[in-house]
Amino acid sequence: MPDENVNAGNRAPDCDVVVVGAGFAGIYALWTARKRGYSVRGFEAGSDVGGTWYWNAYPGARCDVDSYSYAYFFDNEVVRDWDWSDICARQPEIQNYLSFVADRCDVKPLITFDTRVTASTYDESAGLWTVSTSGGEEVVCRYLVLAVGALSEPKAPDIEGVDDFQGEKYFTSMWPKDREVDLSGKRVGVIGTGSSGVQAIPEIAKVASEVVVFQRTANFVMPTCGGPMDPDHVAMLREDPQAIREGMRANYGGTRPIAMGPRFAELDEAGREKALQEAWDGGYMMTAFYDAHLPEANEAISEFVRKRMHEQVEDPWTANQIVPWDHPYGGKRPCMSDVYLQTYNQPHVRLVALKETPIERITVDGITTSAEHVPLDVIVFATGFDALTGPVRSMNIKGIGGAVMADVWADGPVNYLGTMVHGFPNLFLPSSAMSPSVLSNMATLAEQQVDFVFDTVDELERRQASGCIRSMNRRSSGPRKPCATPSACRGH
Ligand code: NAP
Repeated sequence: MPDENVNAGNRAPDCDVVVVGAGFAGIYALWTARKRGYSVRGFEAGSDVGGTWYWNAYPGARCDVDSYSYAYFFDNEVVRDWDWSDICARQPEIQNYLSFVADRCDVKPLITFDTRVTASTYDESAGLWTVSTSGGEEVVCRYLVLAVGALSEPKAPDIEGVDDFQGEKYFTSMWPKDREVDLSGKRVGVIGTGSSGVQAIPEIAKVASEVVVFQRTANFVMPTCGGPMDPDHVAMLREDPQAIREGMRANYGGTRPIAMGPRFAELDEAGREKALQEAWDGGYMMTAFYDAHLPEANEAISEFVRKRMHEQVEDPWTANQIVPWDHPYGGKRPCMSDVYLQTYNQPHVRLVALKETPIERITVDGITTSAEHVPLDVIVFATGFDALTGPVRSMNIKGIGGAVMADVWADGPVNYLGTMVHGFPNLFLPSSAMSPSVLSNMATLAEQQVDFVFDTVDELERRQASGCIRSMNRRSSGPRKPCATPSACRGH
């Protein structure tokens, strides 16, 4: 097989920066690069901007971070000119929003859509990256920004016989974009009960004749924080977006600061029950108590949520299976839905508990567990992602001395502040492994890390201009002016 990785050779760079991916980070990276005076090109596998929100177009897809926070704040006019319809926006609205921002920033003409980056190779002598694409292009650049997100590499289901199934197969993480998926009147099996499964299952149940949910691990399921936007709150955001932006950056979760509840330890029984009920009704269980992370408070929250979940499911066996007994509240990210649990009260929806009766294999016409064969017309895989490292490891990246990124990360990701990897110069990873990424509001983080990336690029440019480090766009830059110390270098 020919080696896809190619060197820049004697070629001059085609542009300063290549940005891969056109989600939250990619759109902002393209805009920032151009604003700071760099020539830039973008590549995106999808046919439009959106990234994760482009691909995860499954029925019911919705954000569980509030729209007051889950948005760009870099531009006042963008904040003022976009109206969210719901506090927890649905996928089509988020995709439209990202398209609106990309148009407003005029970055779409910079992007080559429907094009995957198949390899990226660093030429050490030239100090340049060569980026190869599925369209057959080889683009030589000085800086490479992989804005490929944390949840963009679907997880292949490790189930025997998955390719044997002759019915329709869909992944929530790659829902078809070129046609309407019609599940009406069909027998649908859903594998996976994480956030995606929990959101998709009630929508599928609206049209399918039969829904069988294959659950391996039960999850906490909470009411959503959705509803109409508060006009006073929106007005406040629009008054001084830059102050809001600074506040979110200073906040641990990258959201608008959230008021913590009272201290569990200081409340009597009635006060605790009242606080729990208010947090449940208000959709803020995670912050129900100031000391929610301490065992006593966490146990109270866990028990309260289990009870609330249990009472919404009529069949006792299903209720018992659907409640997560094996981990504490917050031990895994809770799912959010106002309709998921009640879906099991419909006669055409049932649960298969894989811990009791595991899947043995997928066959031509359905799924066989240790207890039964379930005939199906459709299987929906809500089986998640090869998260965080997967998108980068799958990209065929070669750095100094031909080092392969996938090998360097074979035992786990190693990088600096989640953005740079030793041995892969001038390559940047906003929103990737080891950054706050999914522990934080991805929209805030995307802006913050892209700013950091381009501050670094600016600094590299400044040092090259001063002769402090070798220029990256020539094969030989002549004698360098060495700096005695890093601080001397900063002074140039
Ligand atoms: P996920 O959380 O990884 O859930 C995958 C599900 O598939 C789990 O229930 C898992 O079971 C199951 N699964 C995987 N392989 C399986 C197998 N071979 N057999 C049976 N079951 C299998 O994926 P996701 O739901 O797509 O969510 C991914 C991330 O995106 C999460 O961080 C989530 O919070 C986020 N997300 C957020 C939103 C939102 O903002 N509302 C919406 C969707 C997703 P086990 O648990 O037993 O492995």
